[in-house]
Amino acid sequence: MQTHTRSLNSIPHNSPRPLPHLRTRDQTTARMRVCPGGPVLQKCVRVCCRRGRWRVPRCVRRAWSYTHLLARSLCYNSLTTWDTVNESLFEPVFWTADRLTRWFGPVFVCLVIVLTSSIMLIAYLVLLPLVLRTYPPQWIAWHLGFGHWIIVMITFHYYKATRTPPGRPPTMKNDVPFVSICKKCVIPKPARTHHCGICNTCILKMDHHCPWLNNCVGHFNQRYFFSFCVVLTLGCMYCSISGRNLFIDAYSAIEHFKALEAEKPGVPVKGVGLLIGIVPPESSYKATPPTFTFKDKLVNKSIIYMWVLTSTVSVALGGLTLWHAMLISRGETSIERHINKKEVKRLSKRGKVYKNPYNYGRLNNWKLFLGVEKRSHWVTRVLLPSSHPPCGDGLTWDFHPKRKEALPV
Ligand SMILES: [Zn+2]
Ligand SMILES: [Zn+2]
Repeated sequence: MQTHTRSLNSIPHNSPRPLPHLRTRDQTTARMRVCPGGPVLQKCVRVCCRRGRWRVPRCVRRAWSYTHLLARSLCYNSLTTWDTVNESLFEPVFWTADRLTRWFGPVFVCLVIVLTSSIMLIAYLVLLPLVLRTYPPQWIAWHLGFGHWIIVMITFHYYKATRTPPGRPPTMKNDVPFVSICKKCVIPKPARTHHCGICNTCILKMDHHCPWLNNCVGHFNQRYFFSFCVVLTLGCMYCSISGRNLFIDAYSAIEHFKALEAEKPGVPVKGVGLLIGIVPPESSYKATPPTFTFKDKLVNKSIIYMWVLTSTVSVALGGLTLWHAMLISRGETSIERHINKKEVKRLSKRGKVYKNPYNYGRLNNWKLFLGVEKRSHWVTRVLLPSSHPPCGDGLTWDFHPKRKEALPV
């Protein structure tokens, strides 16, 4: 310890003071105190092992070594904060969650594809024939137009969101301004960049890691992710609202299937649903019970499945979409929302007001996010599938633009 102290004192007073995060090893060690219990415990374990000629298994030794190092780095480091302690204590939980999310990523993607395809299949095989048979021409045109627009938008944005890399900071030497160093990648982190434990890399303007995409949502694919959420919510709401009556009829019919199967032959049937082809002619009720084919049951169960799934998804995903819409209006990502809330609290205690440096005003935030530079872009880039890149490179960001510098349109 004396040696370390001497080496610290030997630094000349007029030499430039190093940054806090770039302290030398000697300086950090000088701030440590000697642990009184650690060496004694270690010695006891060694003596016990020698006397009993029993060797501790390697996995136990490694676990002990890790725990020992962790405890020392947390207890004897003057730079430790409660955030660091919490992060270290929950590290095994985060590690497990990250690994599970990474392994189940392809499963989630397959699940999205299977569920979406099943709804499209039901729409084409069950709903479309019914619409063509019973609806007036103007409603047929509406359902065909809107339904196909939704299908194209969902497919396009999901494909782009999963296949577009979110953006990574350069790892080679460069002149990009940075705000900190990533402790895991050991590379400079530009503003709005965060490390993803699941992808195990830094992501530009990281929002979150989405298991349903098996991809991080960052600077280059956030628009695809948000558009996918919007169109999928719209599609689910469309199916849920327009299929409500069909669901009620199908549910009543299924209930009657069950009741008829339990009753004896010759009992009349009442109050059957409106689905065509399910109820036989009235004259046949009293002689023999109506027979329902496998196809009838399949059609009704498909409608129930579609309505329950689309209603559930429209509520859950609708909430998520509104949350992201609010964040975009504020010019924040999900991670920045968390950080900014902390900053607001911290500065309010000092009597100051925190202002988000990336909030360019509500309308400008949306234009920047959607890449709208002129009026026609609201149609060509928002309402239609478009693969235009986002504004900026994700490495450098402007702060607080003046009113006169607001985006045109
Ligand atoms: Zn990193
Ligand atoms: Zn990720």
